[in-house]
Amino acid sequence: MDDLLTVTVAKKLLEKGTISSETLVSMCLERIKAQDEKTHAFLGLSQTAIEEARAIDVRRKAGDELGPLAGIPVAMKDNMLVQGWESTAGALILEGHKGAYNATVTQRLKDAGAILIGRTNMDDAAMGSSTETSHWGPTKNPWDTTKVPGGSSGGSAAAVAAGFVPVAFGSDTGGSIRQPASLCGVVGLKPTYGRVSRYGLIALSSSLDQIGLFAHTVEDASLMLQVIEGKDPHDATSVDLTQTTVPELIEKDVSGLRLGLPKEYFLEGMDPQVKKTVLEAVERLEKAGAKIEEISLPHAEYALATYYIIQPAEASSNLGRFDGLRYGYHSSGQNLKETYERTRGEGFGREVKRRIMLGSYTLSAGYYDAYYRKALKVRSLIKKDFDDALKIVDAIVTPTSPSVAWGLGEKFNDPLTMYLSDIYTITANLATIPAMSIPCGFVDDLPVGLQIMGKPFDEYTLFKIGATYQSLTDWHLRTPS
Ligand code: GLN
Repeated sequence: MDDLLTVTVAKKLLEKGTISSETLVSMCLERIKAQDEKTHAFLGLSQTAIEEARAIDVRRKAGDELGPLAGIPVAMKDNMLVQGWESTAGALILEGHKGAYNATVTQRLKDAGAILIGRTNMDDAAMGSSTETSHWGPTKNPWDTTKVPGGSSGGSAAAVAAGFVPVAFGSDTGGSIRQPASLCGVVGLKPTYGRVSRYGLIALSSSLDQIGLFAHTVEDASLMLQVIEGKDPHDATSVDLTQTTVPELIEKDVSGLRLGLPKEYFLEGMDPQVKKTVLEAVERLEKAGAKIEEISLPHAEYALATYYIIQPAEASSNLGRFDGLRYGYHSSGQNLKETYERTRGEGFGREVKRRIMLGSYTLSAGYYDAYYRKALKVRSLIKKDFDDALKIVDAIVTPTSPSVAWGLGEKFNDPLTMYLSDIYTITANLATIPAMSIPCGFVDDLPVGLQIMGKPFDEYTLFKIGATYQSLTDWHLRTPS
């Protein structure tokens, strides 16, 4: 079989009967067991996956009508609930916590026939950009195991890059899908806020979180989105969609499309080789007929500061529920207050505590107006920058990350440098627009990602640009040795 197993390829093999789902799922599990020691993409594997795959095979043989993902193995980030599975969000505070129900995305995948084969590693409570803050130890980049895979969904990105699964799911609050996708050389899609239900996702920052996925191809990404998207009565922010994308109907043609290149995104601080690689990708799109226009996003320089006020504020509130009394980590004290102090003091990691302190500070009386309320106003200005720009252009193209994957431990003790690695991704969350990273080359044998951002609910244009690019290049077909 081809080294690069995409969902589209696997679907065809399954439908033709060339391979059974049982064989496919067993192959994935064996590969993980043999090789994941080096990457640590997975925190746990399903005990029932082979049985479920066998059941699909039986139904296929009987001629039953099957869902669009029947028999396809997928992986879930450790913060998305799967009923009965442990779900820790990479955090000690949720040690032993089990999903009491299926997240909407989990349920939709199961209904489509997908086989959930395991849960992937992530930064502690999804805070981080390298998967090094995971309480369960870091994930390593399959391209070079001395490097980080990015984060916070580093386990899912590494799982796809290493060929353990054709597709994996993740969440993106400030770049946690796109940045690891870029660093691991796979496609990473963060849909528009509201396109995919967040029900059953362990909340980090409720106005920024969005579930999305990792795949090798844009076609696969669109197929997955079709399965998980749409209104859900359990999430009031989910939206009734009037349109979806049919993967086979994505036009591989960008002629006449106007692509904006924001001048604020190519300044000093970024790796010149990454800049060159990204600009070459943009040139490729121009040669294919796209019109490249320089645009300005004047408030971009405030994005990081805005994000690091809003995100910790919402996180400090969301994390208030982890008291160790009903589930997760528990450490008893002499009285209730001491029990809380011990449980939370021991259960939360260093980065999480830093954010809780930042968030509690900016939300407290006397500072609320100066920080939190002001950050909300700046967020509106950032959103308006994008609204204005996307009236002139059809999509915006930028680097996904200012650098390629860095060494494990290199930025671990320097939170500001770590925060800066999300400089190009956080704006899409603040502006609630869709964004996708696709592989566009290598620097020092490590993958580089091109980010494409679009109008709210216009994922189709992102797919069109991405699929055209992938039809002209083969970066996405390369795999780590
Ligand atoms: N790295 C960013 C942070 O630590 C984004 C995390 C995310 O998207 N979950 O906040």
